[in-house]
Amino acid sequence: MSKLRSVKGMNDLLPSEIGRWHRLERAFREAVERYGFAEVRTPIVEPTALFVRSIGEATDIVEKEMYTFEDKADKSLTLRPEGTASCVRAYLEHSIGNVEPVSKWYYLGPMYRRERPAKGRYRQFYQAGCEVYGDPGPYVDAELIDLVVSYLSALGITELEVQINSLGSGDTRERYRDSLLAYLRPLASKLSEDSQRRLERNPLRVLDSKAPEDQAIAAEAPSLLDHLSEDDRAHFADLCAALDAFGTPYRVEPKLVRGLDYYTRTLFEVKGLGADLGAQNTLCGGGRYDGMIRELGGADTPAIGFAMGLERLLLCLPDAEAEDTLDVFVIVQKPELRLEAAKIARTLRAEGLAVDADLRGTSMKSQLRRADRSRARFAAVIGEAELAAGKVQLKDLRAGTQEDVERSSLVARLAR
Ligand code: AMP
Repeated sequence: MSKLRSVKGMNDLLPSEIGRWHRLERAFREAVERYGFAEVRTPIVEPTALFVRSIGEATDIVEKEMYTFEDKADKSLTLRPEGTASCVRAYLEHSIGNVEPVSKWYYLGPMYRRERPAKGRYRQFYQAGCEVYGDPGPYVDAELIDLVVSYLSALGITELEVQINSLGSGDTRERYRDSLLAYLRPLASKLSEDSQRRLERNPLRVLDSKAPEDQAIAAEAPSLLDHLSEDDRAHFADLCAALDAFGTPYRVEPKLVRGLDYYTRTLFEVKGLGADLGAQNTLCGGGRYDGMIRELGGADTPAIGFAMGLERLLLCLPDAEAEDTLDVFVIVQKPELRLEAAKIARTLRAEGLAVDADLRGTSMKSQLRRADRSRARFAAVIGEAELAAGKVQLKDLRAGTQEDVERSSLVARLAR
């Protein structure tokens, strides 16, 4: 029989590595809650049309990366490739805009894209992201960028570059599109196959292409920033001024467009500059999408969001000292005392301590080994003599010391 394995590009996160994930996730929740964000959890599966309409038909995600299937009622469903579309759907479905002038949401969870797996690029990956509805910016835009940078810095990820750009709003986008097309059309035959095919529908995509032949042409393309309207220009200038005021370093990158269709005005990416990331060095991508809520049937509502890939953050997360995962491991000198061990463990757990015990009846040596491996801070050893005297022998596994402690004062001793 062939071996059963996980789907290519989709990985198990085993208990031995989960501590690092918890650290990232805990720090993320703490950081965003300090900024007034509340968590939203949306389904992992959505109607396919949601992503086609919001992300855009002529994008890599929609053209080739979605996991789309028909359910038993012949409905087309898709595993979410990103979080923003689902958040907007939920925001509209529950008419949140009618009751809250500004909503600040965050999410954390797996996303699915059928990309070619590589270091830092998977088919199931985790994103942590934020969305703000109802605030046109630019100060909230600056706050979001600052939030990402301070979150990453607090984790010890400091080799970063923030890149920002403005895509302008409705008219600007149209005018820029025209001048970009005028530049690209004569060069069309030199573009990659994908870019040739999408040229008329989505010329901006060429600027974002990874194909070397496209990149050479994109480098000489007209700049978006030269096409901004006065309002767009003022919005962008105020964003820069706010980042300056916060002391958040950034670089203006006029060629930054990103792979999704829905962005307007502010666009940003945070790149990791450390050596551990390889080619997949975009840690965070975000931007404003002021048109999407109206396009999906809601009222005109400004919106901005970002998402970070947690696997990529883990690749540049400095090693932390291993934390103790258990307070106490209970060990018995004889198999007959196992029930006693389970009872002590139960009492200590009720006091809020993290406790495990080896209930198989193995040798002391093997139990001590397990205590060590489970990174318990203390081992509580019980033998018949201790039991009769109402005591346990408490070994401090970090300090290498031991003492006899009355069972009745065990909790107090451990609390110390
Ligand atoms: P996007 O939703 O494409 O703007 O991506 C936002 C962030 O998600 C990126 O900066 C990456 O950190 C992460 N990301 C996107 N696609 C993948 C993937 N296939 N594997 C791992 N991380 C990803």
